Amino acid sequence: MLKAEKAMKTIGLVGGMSWESTLEYYRVINQYTKERLGGFHSAKVVLYSVDFAEVESQQHEGRWDDLTRLMIDAAQRVERAGAEVLVICTNTMHKMADDVQGKIRIPVLHIVDAAAEAIKSRSIKKVGLLGTRFTMEQDFYKQRLIRNHGLEVIIPEEKEREAIHRILYNELCLGEIKEQSKGTFRAIIAGLKARGAQGIVLGCTEIPILVSQDDYRIPLFDTTTLHARAAVDFALNGS
Ligand code: GLU
Repeated sequence: MLKAEKAMKTIGLVGGMSWESTLEYYRVINQYTKERLGGFHSAKVVLYSVDFAEVESQQHEGRWDDLTRLMIDAAQRVERAGAEVLVICTNTMHKMADDVQGKIRIPVLHIVDAAAEAIKSRSIKKVGLLGTRFTMEQDFYKQRLIRNHGLEVIIPEEKEREAIHRILYNELCLGEIKEQSKGTFRAIIAGLKARGAQGIVLGCTEIPILVSQDDYRIPLFDTTTLHARAAVDFALNGS
C-alpha cells in the first residue's frame, strides 16, 4: 500500500441541498484527488443526502431550530459511518455549523474559511457576496468573512437579492439553467463591481452551475470547488 493511501482520511459529506450541487462536490473531490495522487486514485467518501423538499420548506417557514436538529442528525450519521472530516455541502446551512460542530467529534470544514483563504491569497480586500437571501442578509456568513478574515463585504440591492433567491430556488436547485438568468447575474455582478467589489463570492453551491469565470474578468470565488478542494487537502495533508 502506498503512503498516500494509508494516510488518506475519509471525507464525510452532508449533501442533497441540492443534489445538483452535491454532484459537483463529488466530481471535484475525485478529480482533485486524482490530480494530486495520479493513477487510479479516488477519494474515500461517505455521503448522507437529505430530502431537500423538507429543508427548503423549513427554511422558508423560518424553522431554523428544526433544521439545526436535522443537520446534527445528518452529521452524526456521517460520523458513525466512519468520516474523519465533515463537509456541509451548502453555504446556507452553515448557519448552524457551530451547533453541528458541538455535537460531533470530527472537524467541520467551514465553507467560509475555504472561500476566505482563496480571496486573501489574491490580496483582495472587498468582495461582493451572492447567495440565498439567508446567506446574503443574515449575519452568520458575512460576519465570519469580516471578523475572522478581515474582509469587507457588500451585498446586492433588495430587488437583486430577490431575483437571485428566486433563480436559486426556482431554477438552479431544480436543475434548470436559463440564459436570461445568466444575464441577471451579469448585471448584478457589474453593479457590485461598480460599488468597489474586487472579487465576487459565489456563496451558493448552485451558482457555479450558471456562472463561470470564463465569462468574467473580475475574480469569482466558486465556493463549491474551493470547499471540495479544501476537503481533499485536509484528507491528504490533515490541514
Ligand atoms: N446550495 C445552496 C447554498 O449553498 C442553497 C440550498 C440550501 O438552502 O441549502 O446555500
